[in-house]
Amino acid sequence: MSYKSIKKVKTVFIVEIDFRDSYLKGEAIGNHDHSGFMAYVVTDPCIQCKHTNCAAVCPVDAFREGPNFLVIDPFECIDCDACVAECPEEAIFPDDEVPLEWEDYIDLNDRLSEEWDDHVINEAKEPLPEVDEWSGRENKREHLVESWEEEIKPVE
Ligand code: SF4
Ligand code: SF4
Repeated sequence: MSYKSIKKVKTVFIVEIDFRDSYLKGEAIGNHDHSGFMAYVVTDPCIQCKHTNCAAVCPVDAFREGPNFLVIDPFECIDCDACVAECPEEAIFPDDEVPLEWEDYIDLNDRLSEEWDDHVINEAKEPLPEVDEWSGRENKREHLVESWEEEIKPVE
């Protein structure tokens, strides 16, 4: 399913849940503002770092783990913003604020969250061993390891 399709499904789902919750509580609709229907996105600076502080604070277990990168499942994310401040690499953005050069990470988070669906991460782990060498480097996309079968290459 494409990212846009997920957003449509998510929109309907959230509106239905909001309506049901509000109805059950006897409240007016509109206590949650989902008018933007965003999801948060992990971008390039995360590659080869994987501090994982972000995953520990996510209230809905939206993070999925790859060998040297984390992604956010756009269907699970409830746009709470809690993970952003936890990332020392400043790698996480709302989807409408992703820097232009990293826009492909929106679809990448969507695709890899499906591929890594069995790798839910909801607690902090040790970062990758060479995090100090990789932290702050630019344009790490070519070093992204998508498959758990692939070997992580040492820093050059
Ligand atoms: S805290 Fe930042 S760098 Fe670390 S895993 Fe999360 S997104 Fe990646
Ligand atoms: S914005 Fe909130 S719900 Fe979405 S991934 Fe971050 S912590 Fe999880």
